[in-house]
Amino acid sequence: MAEQSTATITPDHKLVVRNIGLMLSGDIGNPILEADTLIAIGGRIAAVGRAKDLDTDKADTVIDANGTVLLPGMIDSHVHPVAGDWTPRQNQLGWIDSTMHGGVTTMISAGEVHTPGRPRDVVGVKAMAIYAQRCFDAFRPGGVKIHAGAPVIEPGMVEQDFKDLADAGVRLLGEVGLGGVKDGATAKQMVAWARKYGIQSTIHTGGPSIPGSGLIGADVVLEADTDVVGHINGGHTALPDAEIRCICEGCKRGLELVHNGNERAALYTLRVAREMGELNRVILGTDGPAGSGVQPLGIARMVSLLSSLGEVPAEIAFCFATGNTARMRNLDCGLIEVGRSADFVFMDKAQHSAGKSFLDSIQLGDLPGIGMVVIDGLVRSGRSRNTPPAEKVPSVQGH
Ligand SMILES: [Zn+2]
Repeated sequence: MAEQSTATITPDHKLVVRNIGLMLSGDIGNPILEADTLIAIGGRIAAVGRAKDLDTDKADTVIDANGTVLLPGMIDSHVHPVAGDWTPRQNQLGWIDSTMHGGVTTMISAGEVHTPGRPRDVVGVKAMAIYAQRCFDAFRPGGVKIHAGAPVIEPGMVEQDFKDLADAGVRLLGEVGLGGVKDGATAKQMVAWARKYGIQSTIHTGGPSIPGSGLIGADVVLEADTDVVGHINGGHTALPDAEIRCICEGCKRGLELVHNGNERAALYTLRVAREMGELNRVILGTDGPAGSGVQPLGIARMVSLLSSLGEVPAEIAFCFATGNTARMRNLDCGLIEVGRSADFVFMDKAQHSAGKSFLDSIQLGDLPGIGMVVIDGLVRSGRSRNTPPAEKVPSVQGH
């Protein structure tokens, strides 16, 4: 079983990360920072810059990055958790902890839809959402932050239901279309009620993912007007290119590309977003666990896919998995910025990659080697057990 991480640090705990070879910000407007040192106090970023300009004395923990790459912990915008670190979809244990070893430090539920016997009646839907929100807030395998409790809308829900959910701490809707509401008009009304009470929404775009799921086309996506166009590249069955373009051009919402989707459609969406000058709308998910399994390296694989075949500089592709998602989802992580959560991944070129540098290796389609993961200023793993081995890895000094 994955270890539950309840470790915390004191408010004045000082973490100094020195000797950073390359710092990626997660900010698509300024993806590479001129900095080699980062300081976090009490689990939040307090300073970023050159070692000579910063107060690195009296650290509780020092990480020597050893010339590796530091970037914000990656965010999976589309997961389907069920209970603890177990998924019944492939009857697998430890998938969240394993994904942390793939550089993911935050996950966003698109609905706890694989829950065996999940309720479809309104009071049951609400109760399950509140239960999932509470459980995953308290249980963090590997330290991963799981934003769960994402009810899937069902016929008969009224405005008061969304207010009740929001009052109880629910902040997300699961994929519109995975429940009984399939038409644009009903979805639009419920999504608007959710938004009124501060609940974000997403939608299942494309053909059915598994038996029992349905087709959602561009007309319904645009009418429902969810905050995120969930797996615009299908999950797996994608819409025709013309409908994908219609969605990209017809709204300003998030364009989510998932690992468990159609790769060609992902590359097509990327091309349209680039033509429109709106790469800031592109965010990444795995849509796992799913019929095609659990993907501990799914987000890293998407970054390499989009960078290599989509001809996007690697430092930009990493923004799809970090800052873009953080901004769209109002998260306090995902960017190397003072005040943000101290959630980091240390990467380096994978051993024997043909790339001339770390960024070049990603642009050639290789995966990064992960050497360490830090969440809330705490070291959660050393060398990843899942990625190809990194050439260089950081080391920890202090207590
Ligand atoms: Zn879906």
